[in-house]
Order: sequence, then C-alpha cells, then structure tokens
Amino acid sequence: MSELLSKAEELDAADPLAELRHRFVLDDTVYLDGNSLGALPAVVPDRIADVVRRQWGELRIRSWEESGWWTAPERIGDRIAPLVGAAPGRIVVGDSTSVNVFKALVAAVRMARARAAGGTARDEIVVDATTFPTDGYIARSAARMTGCTLRPVTPAEVPGALTDRTAVVLLNHVDYRTGRLHDLPGLTAAVHGAGAYAVWDLCHSAGALPVGLDEHGVDLAVGCTYKYLNGGPGSPAYLYVRQDLQPRFDSPLPGWNSHAEPFGMSPDYTPAAGAPRARVGTPDILSMLALEAALDVWDGVPVEAVRTKSLALTDFFLECVTAYVPDGRVESLTPAAHAERGSQVALRCTSADAGDVMRRLVASGVVGDFRRPDVLRFGFAPLYVGFGDTERAARVLAEVLVT
Ligand SMILES: *Cc1c(COP(=O)(O)O)cnc(C)c1O
Repeated sequence: MSELLSKAEELDAADPLAELRHRFVLDDTVYLDGNSLGALPAVVPDRIADVVRRQWGELRIRSWEESGWWTAPERIGDRIAPLVGAAPGRIVVGDSTSVNVFKALVAAVRMARARAAGGTARDEIVVDATTFPTDGYIARSAARMTGCTLRPVTPAEVPGALTDRTAVVLLNHVDYRTGRLHDLPGLTAAVHGAGAYAVWDLCHSAGALPVGLDEHGVDLAVGCTYKYLNGGPGSPAYLYVRQDLQPRFDSPLPGWNSHAEPFGMSPDYTPAAGAPRARVGTPDILSMLALEAALDVWDGVPVEAVRTKSLALTDFFLECVTAYVPDGRVESLTPAAHAERGSQVALRCTSADAGDVMRRLVASGVVGDFRRPDVLRFGFAPLYVGFGDTERAARVLAEVLVT
C-alpha cells in the first residue's frame, strides 16, 4: 500500500466528523462538487413526502398556520444563523442569491444616502471585479437604478478605492473560481472607516468555515443554500441584516410578506420590524422545507471542527496531487496559506484540455467541475468527504492526465 493511502486511512480513523457521512445519501463516487450542489441529506425525502402528503394534501390551507409555513423564512434563517455567526432574528430565507444581492445593494445605497443627507453624495458602488458574474450584473443594474457609478476593483484594491462617495461595497468571502478566502474582518473595517456599507456574499464560505457576521459588524450578507448547506437544487437563499440596521433597511422589493400586517391588506405600506422586512412574496414552501430538513445534518456540529477538517482535506489533496501528478501538468490557483484558503482547490490544467480532463475524471468516478477556460475545481464538503476520497481523487487525476 502506498504511503499516502495508509496516511489517508489514519486520517479517516482519527476524523471526529467521519460519522457524519452517514447522514447523507452517497455512493462510491468521490463527490467533490458540494461547492456547486451539496449532497442529499438522508432525512430530506421522507420529510418532503410528509410536507406534500400530509401538510399540503390533508391540512391544505391550515398548514400556513399549523405547519408553520408562514414563519418558515425567519425560522429557517435562525437555523442558518449559528453557521455564519449570527444571533437569532437577523436572517430571512427566500428568493435567490441574485435577488438578495439586489435587495441588499439598493437598500444599502438608500441607507447610505439617508445617513449622508446634506453631506457628500454617496454615489458609488464598489464591486469585486473577480466576482461570480451574477453579482456583477446585479450590481451594474443597481447602480443604474440608483444613479450610482459602478467601480469594479479586486478585493485587494478595495481599501485604496474607498472614498467619501462610496455608498456600498459588494464582496465575496471566498472566490468561486480560485477558492481564495478574503479578509472579511479587515475589509469590513476599511469599508466602515470610509462611512460605507459592506455587503458580503457567503455562497462559498457558509457551511465550510466560520464567518462571524455579528462579531465583525457586517452590515448585510447574502448566500445560497444549495452548496455547502445541502438544501437541494434551487433551494432558497438568505439575507442577513445587522440588527441595528433593521429599522432603516429600506427594501427595493417591499412585497406584502414584508408588511407589518400582511393580512391587513392595506393599500399603504408599513414595513415589518426585524428581519422579516427583507421578505418579498409568498415563500416557495417545498424547497424551503427541504432546506429546513437538510439543516438537521448540522445538529451538534461545531463550525470550527468543520474548518479544521476542511483545511486538512485541502492540504492533503495538494500533497497527493504533488506526489502523484507529474510536474508541470497542473498548477494550484488556491492559496497555500490557510488564512487565505476556502474549502476548494482550483487547479489550472496546463497540459491538456481541462474540460476533457474533467469529463474523464467524472467518468472514472471522481466528480469535480470545470470552469472556463482551464480550471478544474474540487470542492471539499467536510461533512461527507473523507481523506480516502481525497487520495483517490488525486490518484485518478494523475491517471487521467498521463493517459
Ligand atoms: C453560487 C453563487 C451565486 C448563485 O446565485 P443564484 O441567484 O442562487 O443563482 C451567486 N453568487 C456567488 C458568489 C455564487 O457562488
């Protein structure tokens, strides 16, 4: 047996999270795409069957009250809260990440202007130039709608780009392509120093590492739930609003679900108190309750332990790739420093067509994904990926690259 194979066995045997894999529906495939679509938690199918057959089929309209449908966005927000370092009452679940980016950015510009009334114009939105495209598209539209200028800069350039005209800065906690972890505490403090608001996109960090939203004074944050939170395809996203900002949160999509008295059916709009004022319309209950069931896998799991395992997995993967893959075939885009690494490894494929390499990997039972033009992405979801999986992935990658 190779040295790395026995090392993988030792690491798996000592892994305090190893048992969590049984909470998921998995097979022999090495699934390293949980940063795109998390695996299915085993409790979800029966829970959804109950929601459909009993809650919908038998209780029908009564379920809005009796099955807790109406309050699901806040209730499930409170389940996500401990995973991102938020107290209860700060998060609502609903809509897509894209829609929540829109709500957060426009609300932040409005709040920045209300605060600056009479002072300098707050007419600039700063956005991470390397962002996942949807965030950039939405930021551009939000800028057009609010009469702001859009300023795309890299996260490292943000402190130097801030001025007294900056209204809001939209940043990614972890870069979706390279897996680079950005300095959320430091950048948030810099944004606040310029009198602006910070909106963080947590799509690639929540469920993989501690975020500390309350601790670091983050203003607004958004994230999806179908990656490391395993909510299922298209499961609803979430929006965090810092507690002291909630009374000033001025939503650009003030639907009836965000009204103080939604069933008052008043023609006049009065926003609800607290996080529910970030709601819009009727929640998508089936997806939402699948997510609620999926969050059971986190019961008793400390996020710090998840982070420790995540770093050990990505370290071990890089070690195996270095040992198995001939020099010059791939190059890691993921930072070596732990403080700058999320929970994925991105390898630039220098020697072959990366799309073809990934297709062959998938056919050989190792599922990662490909991002144009030449990046192989491997996501390590610490709740169900083990060290044996990690060694096998690197070994199969080497085989694919040399044949
Ligand atoms: C996955 C992801 C999204 C997805 O947005 P949707 O509206 O849910 O499709 C947005 N932003 C980032 C950074 C992502 O990684």
